[in-house]
Order: sequence, then structure tokens, then C-alpha cells
Amino acid sequence: MNFSKLPQLVDMRGELKSKGTYSKRSKTITHRVWHHSLTKKHLAGSDAASFADYHVNTLGWPGVGYTFIIEPKNLINTPNGKRARIVYAHDIDRRTYHVGNSNQFALGICVAGDYRSDTMDDATIASIADLHSALVKDNIGKNDTSHSEMPGYSWKACCVYDYRKLIKWQGATTPVTPSPAPNTYTIQEGDTLWSIAHKDGAGGVQVEDLIKANPGIDPSKLQIGQKINFGNAKDVIVQPDIKEDHETSNSGDETIRSIQKTLNSRYKAGLVFDGFNGPKTKKALIKALQTELNKQFKTGLVVDGKWGSKTKAAIVTVKKGAKGNLTWVLQAALYLEGYNPGSLDSIFGKGTESALSKFQKAKKIAVDKKAGKATFTELFSL
Ligand SMILES: [Zn+2]
Repeated sequence: MNFSKLPQLVDMRGELKSKGTYSKRSKTITHRVWHHSLTKKHLAGSDAASFADYHVNTLGWPGVGYTFIIEPKNLINTPNGKRARIVYAHDIDRRTYHVGNSNQFALGICVAGDYRSDTMDDATIASIADLHSALVKDNIGKNDTSHSEMPGYSWKACCVYDYRKLIKWQGATTPVTPSPAPNTYTIQEGDTLWSIAHKDGAGGVQVEDLIKANPGIDPSKLQIGQKINFGNAKDVIVQPDIKEDHETSNSGDETIRSIQKTLNSRYKAGLVFDGFNGPKTKKALIKALQTELNKQFKTGLVVDGKWGSKTKAAIVTVKKGAKGNLTWVLQAALYLEGYNPGSLDSIFGKGTESALSKFQKAKKIAVDKKAGKATFTELFSL
């Protein structure tokens, strides 16, 4: 790989703040997407480590959202001259969060700095051009685009620098002004109100404004495809020196996040690890149940994630001593309903029995310590 031999590149894979890992890409990289961080380039927080903290702690993502981060404040002397440090944060084939529904095929490159007001220096321009030509030689991606040129993001103030000129060593120009925010926005993968706001809209969109504009929406339970209103948020005036907004985190429940991870790895559910029990997680769990019934009992169910009469008829009884994926589905379903079986270890032991009994009692069905048709119906029907 040519990019890994760049003298200004430091390999920090596995060293930055993380919570789990991003899954592998399901598609070949076709786009190199250019971002900036909207944090003033000389500030302490304008580097890969701080972005990783923000993305993990505040946005609840598995790791920093970019594969490469260029840091203007960390200068490196190379045989070719001074260069801004390039941090290599994740394996190229990891699908990080940076452009929502396009993440699978888009490589994220972030240049630290707020180029609505910062000027780009020569060492940074050189690193942008060096990295770009190395990636081209390595055949990683075909097209260069800015964040705001990706579907759904025309209103993003990212990147405001002219990446087309920079990758050709043509120097910095005046910032590009983003389009005004639309009236509504459709939630994409990895989005939270915090990531949508993140000082990154048509200038300083604030989370509080988004919450105000969407009174019926629980900001912790956003679903991909859901529409939210920008309301007054889009009219906020650009503030030239907005500080890093480390709002309190809304990062969900760890056990639910681990359930979502298992659903993705074992059943390819494609969930966002938001740690919240929403309809997509529930649907994925029903699909897991249908998949296991098909696999273990040849029931031939359609794996559609819907609780219907055929699925109900195919249910087998799960009871004490049972082990395996069906027991895990039961444990996960109980946990999502608020009945903690202790650990989700796929073994029907005392903890599962006690959680099940409490659930059955609450639902006024027979407390028989076995999960059969009645119990699964209560767990999975609406
Ligand atoms: Zn961006």
C-alpha cells in the first residue's frame, strides 16, 4: 500500500477511543469523501483522539467516524518538507459512520479545522494531496466528493474547502457556502440529533432547536428512514467560533447494544448500535427467531420479522436446561421487555427462569417457567 508508506502517516488503528468495532464493508469503496471537523484547527480538541472521544462518548458510535484524519496542528518533518500528520484510524475495509446510508462504499477523510474561518496551510494542503495520490495509486476509491455532495447532505457545511483544487496542489480558496437546510431530513445510518447538529448544518444547527422542532420525537430512538423537521434550527445564524459541544451523552443501554451487535453479526440485521429498543431491533429479533426455527426444526417460515400465525404455530417450548440460539433469543426478548435474565449466555438457568416468571406474571399468563406459544406471543406481538 502506497498510503501506508507516507512518512507523515501514523498508524493509530486500535489505539483511539472505541466501543466495539465497525463491521466490514459490504461494498467496494467507490468514493473518497472529504470532511472537515468544524473545530478550529489550533485548538487542543482538533485532532483524531478528540474526535474519537466525541464520536464514541457523545454520538455512541463504535469508533471515530473517519478512516483518515489530517491534523494541521501536528507538523511532521519529512524528506519532502513539512507535512500535517495523517492519522490512520481504521482498516480501510471497515464501514465507519460519516455519510449515513453511503457508508458502505465511502471512505471518510477528515481534515481537522473549521474552514469556514480557518485558512488552510501549506503543510495541510500537501498532506491532502499526498494522501489523495497514494489512494489513487492504491486503487482505493474512484471518485472524490465532499460530504455535502453525498445523498441527503446538501445542506452540510462540510467540506467547505475546495477539495478539487487541494488534491491538485492548487492551494486554498474561499470557503464554499452550503445550501440552506431543507425543511425535513431523513435519518440515515449512524445519525443522532447530535451528529446532525454538530455545528455542521447551514451554520451552527443546535440540538436544542432540533428537539424543539420535533416535539413528538424521542431523540434517543431515531430510526433510519424516519423524517425529522429542521424547523427554526435551519435559520440559526453562523457563529464563527463555536466551541466543541460535548453534550451529555444519550448513548443507550450497553446490553441492548450487545444484543444489536449479535443480531448483526449472527443474522446480518444491519442495525445501528444505538443501545435503544426500537421497532427495528424487535423486528430483527423476530427474524432471528424465525431463522433459528427454520434452521433447527425445518419449519420453512418466511423470515420477515413479523409475528404472525405461522410463526406462532412453529414455536417450540424453551425451558430450563435449554441451550443455544433460541434460548438467547428468549433472553434478549425478555431483556428488551425490561426483564433482565442476568446474563445473555444462551443457557436457560435460574436468571432466565426468574425473569420469565416475572414476565408471565405481569402479562397474566400461566407462570409455568417455560416459554411456549403464549409467552412468545406476549414477547413479540404488538
Ligand atoms: Zn462531514
